[in-house]
Amino acid sequence: MPNPLNVIEIILVEPSHPGNIGAVARAMKNMGFQRLTLVKPKYFPHPDADARAAGADDVLQQARVVETVEEALKTAELVVGTSARVRSLAWPTKTVRHWVDSLTNIPLPRSIAVVFGAERMGLTNEQLQKCHCHIQIPADPEFNSLNLASAVQLVCYELRQGLLNVSLESIDASSIKANNGELEGLFQHLEQILYDIEFINPKQPKQLMPRLRRLFLRAEPDKQEVNILRGILTAIEKLVLTR
Ligand code: SAH
Repeated sequence: MPNPLNVIEIILVEPSHPGNIGAVARAMKNMGFQRLTLVKPKYFPHPDADARAAGADDVLQQARVVETVEEALKTAELVVGTSARVRSLAWPTKTVRHWVDSLTNIPLPRSIAVVFGAERMGLTNEQLQKCHCHIQIPADPEFNSLNLASAVQLVCYELRQGLLNVSLESIDASSIKANNGELEGLFQHLEQILYDIEFINPKQPKQLMPRLRRLFLRAEPDKQEVNILRGILTAIEKLVLTR
């Protein structure tokens, strides 16, 4: 029987310590997760990663290594970013447990990417704005930034408790949700049209695109809805070009 835990993909963005990569692989395997993607790791493969994986070498060997966050997220139908800090433009944010609870009430998307930032700086605002929602581990507010592998461990623990017994029927077989690549295509198209019709002032783009991203991501549109919006944008484009 297919395993509901396999819908989860853990993505590490630019990890700098190979030991942490190994510790993440071990944390994942302890909780039954296999799919690891590394975006531009500073050192990988590396003996420190092997040493800290302590038996989770298979997770390291199967890890996908990519150059960009866009490439890592392309086929994910649900993208969640992890962050200890609240950022300037507030995004829908849940604690890990609430997020996992919310997953058990909906048809499970076929691919869910959980994105973790680099040890020193975490995820950038731009990376966080690619996510449907943000999740936080509610630690002591005075000292809430966990070690990368510890954060992965806690998130994987909660996901295991929540998803292990989810019936596979609840995986969304029709896969109607638009994936990240399709959504990024929509955002680029929309931004282009908003410049063409001079709705965005190139000298002062302000927070318009992040706000529109937040609106569309909150709606979690399906493929057909994204196609309709792309069609509308193409019609506007034609009209603008013939003016
Ligand atoms: N100094 C960085 C934190 C880096 S910790 C910052 O302030 O953003 C490395 C990564 O571990 C983070 O990018 C995040 O993915 C995860 N992490 C650490 N603490 C977390 C917390 N309390 N909640 C959610 N994710 C956390």
